Amino acid sequence: MIFQIRDDERKIFEVIGRAAGDLGFPTYVVGGYVRDRLLARPSKDLDIVCVGSGIELAKRVANSLHPRSRVTVYKRFGTAALKHRDLEIEFVGARKESYRSDSRKPTVESGSLSDDQNRRDFTINALAISLNDRDYGSIIDPFNGLEDLEAKRIVTPLEPGKTFSDDPLRMLRAIRFATQLGFRIDPVTFQAIKDHRERIKIISWERVATELNKILLTATPSVGLRLLDESGLLGYILPELAALRGVESRNGRKHKDNFIHTTKVVDNLADRSPDLWLRWAALLHDIGKAKTKRWESDAGWTFHAHDAVGERMVPKIFRRLRLPNDKLKYVQKLVGLHQRPISLTQEEISDSAVRRILFDAGEDIDDLMTLCESDITSKNPHKVRRYLENYGRLRERMREIEEKDHLRNWQPPISGELIMETFNIPPSRQVGQIKDAVREAILDGDIPNEYPAAFQKMLDVAAELAIHPQVK
Ligand code: ATP
Ligand code: MG
Repeated sequence: MIFQIRDDERKIFEVIGRAAGDLGFPTYVVGGYVRDRLLARPSKDLDIVCVGSGIELAKRVANSLHPRSRVTVYKRFGTAALKHRDLEIEFVGARKESYRSDSRKPTVESGSLSDDQNRRDFTINALAISLNDRDYGSIIDPFNGLEDLEAKRIVTPLEPGKTFSDDPLRMLRAIRFATQLGFRIDPVTFQAIKDHRERIKIISWERVATELNKILLTATPSVGLRLLDESGLLGYILPELAALRGVESRNGRKHKDNFIHTTKVVDNLADRSPDLWLRWAALLHDIGKAKTKRWESDAGWTFHAHDAVGERMVPKIFRRLRLPNDKLKYVQKLVGLHQRPISLTQEEISDSAVRRILFDAGEDIDDLMTLCESDITSKNPHKVRRYLENYGRLRERMREIEEKDHLRNWQPPISGELIMETFNIPPSRQVGQIKDAVREAILDGDIPNEYPAAFQKMLDVAAELAIHPQVK
């Protein structure tokens, strides 16, 4: 089959083909670029394999481009890359790989195109387009990858057990591609993932996190999350989430499956926001439920304080998966606050309760509301509508109070420094007590949010603690 070369790629393909011809290196476009183009998905990475030196080819290509591109050489890997327009082009010599059992880093030697295709993870990722005079533009497809693209099938080119035990990261890649592309993993391939799931242990946490993030960034992350669960991989990479799986029943009363619920919440959220960290908050919002589950004879199943317990579990998960520290506080905050808005929709509530959540959530209040709206997973459309309307009303109320009181980025008017200076006392528990009492009085609406009233309140609270201003 001949690949339909697009106008925007014709020029660069020809430049590479000519440079390859001059050097006498048979050269091909391979991997993700070919797959994504055939699926009409956008692709910014162009991978070029040549039978010869990838570095030499990259240099020659760079010299024939106008304007000339700068080549970045990765000597250790024998690869070189250059940027051309919005394409990141990587050049590598065709290679043959052999693996040892304790590492996913293979021994590498040069090889033929077919050796290079053999080492690829899935048939749909092993397609190559020739850039050579003899068969320019033809697709080289030794494993029927085209057929699998058509059938939307993820299947390994060689025996799947070997593919996965050689490089267990491929198990996560299979699930990620299935989620991203809406493909099915071939049953034999999937069985091999189940069989080799324990091998995931040799993969670095950074790489695990990269694949998890890619799953979370798809339109329906639940697909990948369920495959992680079914394959048993979830227990190795996010055991806290795997622990939410299952339903228990007592006296005919069941609780919902909190893993399935979570996957729905993440999908709902994916419909509302592209933000990766808000999606992480959705993934972890109920993470405290396994530890807090109780049966109470009058109330039935309860998960008291699962929000606070969950909040405390987030740091360990972030540390393990090497997720960025600067997102940790944000995710923790949303997990910790996710139960609060619902309680504000249930009855007639005071302005002060609304003020308090505005203060506690600060600039993340909209994200918190988006998380809560996504947390509605009832199957009854009337209920869903009613709950969403309740949140809509709460949002309106928040807007009104925010307009009046500006609590989003509010700093209480009385600082610790001011307290220490006024009373000439060192940092101590009392300073905190006074500061908190003033802040609470404002949030409760007992005193206006103004400096003179706050200052007076500070004096009153201090007097109760037998602390008096220092006259200078
Ligand atoms: P994406 O860029 O969306 O992550 P991709 O398939 O292009 O998807 P890359 O990591 O860019 O993935 O790798 C490019 C190509 O290299 C793949 O299409 C595949 O042929 C090969 N490849 C990448 N990782 C592996 C792996 N772990 N095992 C075998 N082949 C791999
Ligand atoms: Mg790629």
